[in-house]
Amino acid sequence: MTSQNDTTICIAHVYRGSFVHSTRSAAVEILQDTVLGVDRAGKIAFIGDGSDLDRLSQKWGFKPSDVKQLGQCEFFMPGMVDTHIHASQYSYSGTALDLPLLQWLNTYTFPVEARFKDLSFAMDVYTRVVKRTLKNGTTTACYFATIHTDASLLLGQIADKFGQRALVGKVCMDHNNYNYKETQMESVEETKRFIQELLKKEYPHVRPVVTPRFAVSCSSDLLSALGEIARNNDLHIQSHISETKEEVEVVKELFPDHKSYTDVYKKHHLLTNKTVMAHGCYLTDEELKVFRETGAAISHCPNSNTSLCSGILNTRKVLQNEVKLGLGTDVAGGYSPSMLDAIRRALDSSKVLTIQDPNFQTLTFQEAFRLATLGGSEALGLDEQIGNFEVGKDFDALRVNLCVPDGPVDVFPGDFYLSLCVLHRGIPTGDDRNIVEVYVAGRRVVPLPEK
Ligand SMILES: [Zn+2]
Repeated sequence: MTSQNDTTICIAHVYRGSFVHSTRSAAVEILQDTVLGVDRAGKIAFIGDGSDLDRLSQKWGFKPSDVKQLGQCEFFMPGMVDTHIHASQYSYSGTALDLPLLQWLNTYTFPVEARFKDLSFAMDVYTRVVKRTLKNGTTTACYFATIHTDASLLLGQIADKFGQRALVGKVCMDHNNYNYKETQMESVEETKRFIQELLKKEYPHVRPVVTPRFAVSCSSDLLSALGEIARNNDLHIQSHISETKEEVEVVKELFPDHKSYTDVYKKHHLLTNKTVMAHGCYLTDEELKVFRETGAAISHCPNSNTSLCSGILNTRKVLQNEVKLGLGTDVAGGYSPSMLDAIRRALDSSKVLTIQDPNFQTLTFQEAFRLATLGGSEALGLDEQIGNFEVGKDFDALRVNLCVPDGPVDVFPGDFYLSLCVLHRGIPTGDDRNIVEVYVAGRRVVPLPEK
C-alpha cells in the first residue's frame, strides 16, 4: 500500500502500531502492527506491514530506530470532523435548553451572538472553543460565527494559530424580529469582505463558507445573492434545514411559491456538492432525492435534536437515499462540544427509532464511527484530502490511549491486540483524556501549547 515509487519524498515521521479507520467498503477496518509514514508536507506517504519494516526503511530512507512505536493500549484513528458547530454559542453551552428552537434563538442565542461585536469577547470565546474541540479530537470543524465580519475573521485566525482545519462562516441574516440582524446590502457586502480578507491570509487549512443562517431569517434576495457569491468563488455553503416542524411551517408561509423547504435553497442556488445542511429531521423522500442529485450533504446533530426537542433524524433513510451524511455537535443547541458524544447520541437516537419500530434497522457502532470521520469528510467535500488513512491524504489523526492513568476506560487482560470489542468499549466510554495526541496535516496540535 505505498504510493507510486516516489522515494524522493522526505519522510518526517513514521509510526508503528494499530490503526483504525473507515474505508468506502468497510465501516471499520482495524490495521494491526502497521507502519505509516508521514512526509514533510503532512501527507501519508506510505502504509505497510510491520513485518516489512526493514524494506520500508530502505525504500523510504528512514532509520528503524526513528520509528515511533505505539503502546499496547494505543491506536491511531482519523481526526473527527464536526460538520456543524456554532463557535459563538460555546459561551453558553450546557445551559438554556428549555425552549424550542425559534423561541430559543430569540431568547438566548441572538442576544449572545450580538456580543461578538466586542472583539475581546470574541477572542476569549473563540480561543476556548478551538482549544476545547481540538482536545476532544475535532481536527476539522465547520463553524458558524456571527454576523460580525471582524470577529469571524478572528475565528479563522485562531483556528489557524492552533492548527485546526476549519471552514468558517460569517453568519448572514436580514430578517427576524430581534434587532440582531443586518440589512441585505450589509450582509452581502460584508460577506464579500469576509471571504476576500480570509482568503488573503492564505491560511493553509482555514477556508470561508457562505453561511445564510436559515431560510427563516433570510430574505429571498439575500439567499439569491449568497448563492451567487458561493458559485462565483467556488465556495462551501452551510445552513440549517427542517430542524423542527414549526420552522418548516414558517418557511412554507414565507416562501409560498416553493414546493418544499429544500426547494427554497435549491431555487436560490444554495444546494451544491459543497453544501452541508444541518438537521433535516423532517425532509421528505422527494427532498432527499434533491439532496442526492445536487450532492448536498446533511449534518446530523443528535444531541441538539434531543436537547431542543426538535426531532429525530432517520439516518437509515438518509443513507439508503445515498445522501452524504456527517455528524455535528451543533453547540450550543447540543450541549457537548465532543464528537465522541455525537457518536453516542447518533446511536441513541437511532435506537429510539428502533424502540418505536422494532423493524427499524438501527445504526451500528461501526457506521456511527464512519459518520464521525470519513462521512464527515464526504459531507464537507474534503474526502480527497482527509477522513481516513490512505496514501496521499493529509495525516489528520488522533493517538488514542485506552489505558491513561486515572482514565475513564478499564481495559481487561486479553483485551489487546486491538479488536472491535476493545474499540467498542473505548469509543462509548472514553473521553478527551484518552486522546493523548492530535495531528492535523502531520503537525501535532494536541497537547496544546503551554501559552
Ligand atoms: Zn446550528
